[in-house]
Formats: sequence, structure tokens, C-alpha cells
Amino acid sequence: MAYLRFKALEILNSRKPIPAQLPSNSVSDFFNENVFDMEQMRATLSPSVFNKVSQAIIKGEKIDETTADAVAIAVKSWAISKGATHFTHWFQPLTGGTAEKHDSFFDGTTKIEKFKGSELVQQEPDASSFPSGGIRSTFEARGYTAWDPSSPMFLYGKTLCIPTIFVSYTGEPLDTKGPLFKALKAIDVAATKVCQLFDRDIQHVSASLGCEQEFFVVDKALYMARPDLVMAGRTVFGHSPARGQQLEDHYFGSIPSRIYEFLRDFEIEAWKLGIPVRTRHNEVAPSQFEVAPAFESVNVANDHNQLMMDLMQRVAERHDLRVLFHEKPFEGVNGSGKHNNWSLITDTGVNLFAPTSSARDNLMFLTFFVTTIKAVHEHADLLRASIATPGNDYRLGGAEAPPAIMSVFIGSQMTNVLNELESKGNVRIQKGDNMYMKLGIDHIPEIILDNTDRNRTSPFAFTGNKFEFRAVGSSDNCATPMTALNLIVADQLEALHSEVMASIEKGTEKRLAIVNVLRRYIKESRNIRFEGDGYSATWVKEARERGLSNIATMPEAIQAYLSEKSLSLFERHGVYTRKEVYARQEIKLENYIKRVQIEARVIGDLAMNHIIPTAIAYQSKLIENANGLKGLGIDNSAVINTIEQISKHIAIIKKNVSEMINERKRVNKITDTRQRAIEYSECIKARYFDVIRDSVDKLELLVDNEDWPLVKYRELLFLR
Ligand code: ADP
Ligand code: MG
Repeated sequence: MAYLRFKALEILNSRKPIPAQLPSNSVSDFFNENVFDMEQMRATLSPSVFNKVSQAIIKGEKIDETTADAVAIAVKSWAISKGATHFTHWFQPLTGGTAEKHDSFFDGTTKIEKFKGSELVQQEPDASSFPSGGIRSTFEARGYTAWDPSSPMFLYGKTLCIPTIFVSYTGEPLDTKGPLFKALKAIDVAATKVCQLFDRDIQHVSASLGCEQEFFVVDKALYMARPDLVMAGRTVFGHSPARGQQLEDHYFGSIPSRIYEFLRDFEIEAWKLGIPVRTRHNEVAPSQFEVAPAFESVNVANDHNQLMMDLMQRVAERHDLRVLFHEKPFEGVNGSGKHNNWSLITDTGVNLFAPTSSARDNLMFLTFFVTTIKAVHEHADLLRASIATPGNDYRLGGAEAPPAIMSVFIGSQMTNVLNELESKGNVRIQKGDNMYMKLGIDHIPEIILDNTDRNRTSPFAFTGNKFEFRAVGSSDNCATPMTALNLIVADQLEALHSEVMASIEKGTEKRLAIVNVLRRYIKESRNIRFEGDGYSATWVKEARERGLSNIATMPEAIQAYLSEKSLSLFERHGVYTRKEVYARQEIKLENYIKRVQIEARVIGDLAMNHIIPTAIAYQSKLIENANGLKGLGIDNSAVINTIEQISKHIAIIKKNVSEMINERKRVNKITDTRQRAIEYSECIKARYFDVIRDSVDKLELLVDNEDWPLVKYRELLFLR
């Protein structure tokens, strides 16, 4: 094993940067090159077909068969002219990641490549291996994928990829995109209704998303020499390097050239695929980076994020690197998140979270702003549940990550605005050179919005013209948190609208009716607002006093999906049926169990087969040395002490690994999935992982570096 480590380090030393080739000095020359985008469609489709397709994209209308056939012919020629041989329906199953089943254009029966509209619109993947939480087995054995025209088709390698949703024959979504569509529809409908209280011209509202993706990059050979990284995506052992994050300034002066070339290469490929990325350094952990594409509509942004994660791994391969998307690959080093920057934008081009100088728009802004906070307050547990993943359990509440307590940060200016509005129904003027916010209500003149007010410790923060949901984990598919967020806000907007309308009917002036509801919302949701340090222990205490939940583990957190409140919310908007919620719950719990199971096995195997034999061998050397010293009459107490410490840690490891194995056997017999998941969390993960790790990490410091079998943190993290 130590052989593997040193071999990997030797390979590392011989690595050279592989220069990225920019196809043209101007990015616009090749941006979207591999996308069948609007421009391509306009160029290749007849005006009437193009018109139908673009209407379908904008308004979500159905595409008829003749139109689909025409698109299929056009996209086929486009793809083949660019070297494509296959096409695939690209979808996002509940296991996470993306899936595809490739068919060739050439079917062997004729001399020409074929692709029919029906093949574009619908396919039946052999989906029996995708989880459905029992939906399919109970009802109908098959599922199908259906074209999503709102996300452009793209060429990936030699394959034309068609973004699709994956549904069962009885109509239940078997993926993450289906429910997202329903939530996006709900927010469109609800937000448009509310907008029309202010501006009758607004016909649609669409939610936007910009995800900041964090990740680590490690050398491939070092990665391969760490079975825990390969199997579990995170290191289960490893002592923090002496040179840790405290030296970040020094380290970040220059990006190691291998990684620089990789990131460049990745950017080029992403641009060709129409992903508007901008990579940059994350000022946090060594070897950690961030990519932040420009925001797009939620559905497209999320498809781009999923594609980007896959692409990054492919490009990394060319540079002998591996990308780690796990939320917490290294203990003692910051974890990775995927900040979801979210806003609502009208078809007239107004960002509903951006204060402006127009009085009318500012009451509209305040309405959306306050209603969002109220929604988070009402459904904080559901929002927490929506970001629960096995990996995020390791990240939330750790240093440099938001806690598992949901709260909203809005900054001191907006806090003042809300306080004034709540207490007096008006907003005070503040002078300065920043942006002005005017409100068109009597006594509510203008305020300044401080765009620079930042609090990086909040899980959900207002950042001037958008909300930033920071609790989302780096490996996650944003569809789930985006479904939850858009849905709860849609629901709250509906409630607000009904109340305002009822009040108007009773004769209240419209603006006053709105302000009255907002004032009440501000009061009712006060508890969820927190402006202080979310990383501090005092916040944990204060949050408890406020009655806010702090749910540390995924099996507990996702229970919120099953509350009557959540179930009726889903039903009200047709996002999930009860059956689907239970099915999804089952899949998530099974997945959680599997992940903890794998980690437990890796911990057991590495500890027993790699660490203990190494420690014993080293101990034997020390015993020899101690005996030699004794024979010479020299004091050997220091050596004896080390031998004793090694013995102690070996004993702790052996005892705990064997107990952990027995516990696993016991827990595996529990038939109730939820109970099994909870016991995996409490009786296996919480009880044994850290104890075993602690002794292994101590041994790392005791055993001769030359003998240590696992690639060390300093080697993994400080890539040259
Ligand atoms: P930060 O200071 O948090 O790094 P940036 O200005 O770099 O913020 O933006 C982070 C992300 O937010 C980017 O992906 C960006 O496209 C996105 N973003 C900016 N404005 C909006 C908006 N109105 N709606 C959604 N996302 C947005
Ligand atoms: Mg951010």
C-alpha cells in the first residue's frame, strides 16, 4: 500500500501542464457551437415551424407531430454535419446525476440515417434499473422520456443529447425535472397574478438561477491511491496538514499551472455547449475552486449545471486530474456548496427583487421581498429538507458552511425598511450616494439600498437584487431545492393575492390592502430573520430559544416532506401526489443507507487491512529498537511510550471496527426503511466513524512517513 502512495507521488512529480487550446481569440466565435439553439433553429426551420417551436418554448405549448418531424429532420442534419452518429434522450433520474440511452441515427435497414419526430418527442428507455420508489412496480412497469423543448438540444461528443423529462406511464415523474416544471409553472401563475395588481402588462414571470459551483481538484494518481475517495467520494481518514487554510493568501497568489490549463480547457468546452461560465478562485480552501455561470432560467441553468459537472470530470481526465463534488471531501478543510442565486423576472424585463426608482415598482418589489421571507418562515423545515443529502450532513454546521438552521439575512438597510413598514406603515428617507428606493404610498418616500451589505454565514441571504440559497450542497441537483423554493413562494403569493382581493372587495384601497398584508407578514416572519453570525454557537442557542429547528441529519430532515402541511402544499399545486412523496422518500432513505454503508465498509477495510498492519509492522521495528537500547543499557522509555500509544490506538480501532460490523448486521435487519436510515445515522455513523478516525489520524502522526499507506492531505491538497 505504501508502494501505491509513493508510486502515485512519483507519477505526480513527472506530470506536466497540458496547454488548453483556445479555438479562436473571440469566444463569440465558438460560444454555443455545439448547441441547436434558437439561431440554428431559425436558420434551419421554415418560418412557420420555427414560430410554433418558439411559442412552445416561451409559452410551454404542445408541439404537434408535423412540427416535431420538421425539427427532427433539421436537428438530425445539423448533428450529422457536425460528426454525430447517435442521439440520446438525456434525463435526470432520482439517483442523481444524468442518464442516457444511445441510439444510432443509422438503423441498418436503409442507406440513410433516420430520425423521426416521434423519436425526438418520446422514447422508452430501459428504465427498470432506475429507482422509482415502487411507483412503477405497483402500477405500470414502463416509463418514458419526453422531450423538453425549453432546454436546447446539444452535441456531446458524437451524440446528440435531447433534454427530456422521465415519467411513468401513469404520469408520475420519475426524475427531478418533472416536479421542477410544476413548481415553475406555479410560481409563474402566482407571481403573474400578484404582478397584475401593479402592472397589467405583465403576462409571465420566470424564475432565474445562477449557481456558484464549488469543487476540489486532485491529481488522478493520488486519487486512485485513496480507496475512500474512489469509493465514497470523500476521505474517511487523514490528518489535517500543518500548512492548512491559514496560509491561503500565500497559496492563492498563483493557480498551479496544471489546474489553470484544466480550468481553461473546461471553460472552452463549456462555452461551446452554451454554458456561460466564468471560473475563479475560491478564497477558501487549498485546491478548491468555484465556477459561476451567468444566470439563466431555472430549468436551463440546472441542466447546464448538471452537464457542466459531467463535462468537468471528462475534461479533468485529459489533464490527469479528478474533480471532487462531495460536500466535505476533507476533514478540517472547508466543504463545498452550490449557492443558488435566485430571482423572479417578468416578461417585461423587471427583476422583482431589484429595487428601482419607480414608486410603483418598489411596492411591487417589497411585496415579493416580504412574501418570500414569509414563505421561508412558513416552510423552513421543507426548505431544510430540500437540501438534505448524505454529503451535506457533513458540511452543514461545519466551519465556513451555513448551519442546518434555516434563517434569512436581509442586511441592515432592508431591516430598517421592514421595521419602519411594520411599525408605522412607512419608510424613512436616508441620504447617501447609493441606490434610491421610493415607495408610492403616502408617507413612504425613499430609502437607500446598500448593495454591499453581505453576510456570508446565512443559509438564505438577500444580496441586493436576488436571494442566495447557500445551504445547497455541491453535489446536489438544484432541481429539488428549486422545486421547494419556487413552490413555497408561489403558495405564499397565492395567499397574499387572495387576501388582498378580499380586502379590496370590502372597499379598502388597493395599495393599502397590500401594505396591510405585508405588515402582518413582516410581524409573523420576524423569527426567521437573523443578521448575526450564523456560524457562531450563540446562534444555535438563540435559534433554539426562537423555536427554529436545527436538524442535523438527512433521515430526520427529510421527514418534513411527509408533514400534512407539506403534503397539502404539494397537492394544492399538483407538484407531487402523496404516493410520489412517499416513493421519493423511500428512494432518498435507501440512498442514504447505501452511502453510509459504503463509508462504513471503506472505514473498516482501510483500518483493518491497511492501517493496522502498517502500525503493527512499525511497532515491531520500535520493539526491536527498544530491545537494542535496553541491551546497550540506554534509556528506552520514549520508544516504549510510542509503542504503548500505538498499541492503544490499534486496540481502539479493532474494538470499534468489530462493534461497527456487528451493529451493521443488526441494523440491516430492520425492515422499516426510515428506522434503518436513522439507526445507520445514529448507531453507526455517529457512534463509530469519528472514534475510528481519531485513532487512525493519531497513528498517522506516530508511524514513519515512509511506511504510511494512504496519500496524505498535504500531498492531495497542495498540488503543484
Ligand atoms: P457573489 O458575490 O455571491 O459571488 P456574483 O455577483 O458573482 O455573486 O453572482 C453569483 C451568481 O449569481 C452568478 O451565477 C450570477 O449569474 C448570479 N446572479 C446574478 N444576478 C442574478 C439574478 N438576478 N438572478 C439569479 N442569479 C443571479
Ligand atoms: Mg455567492
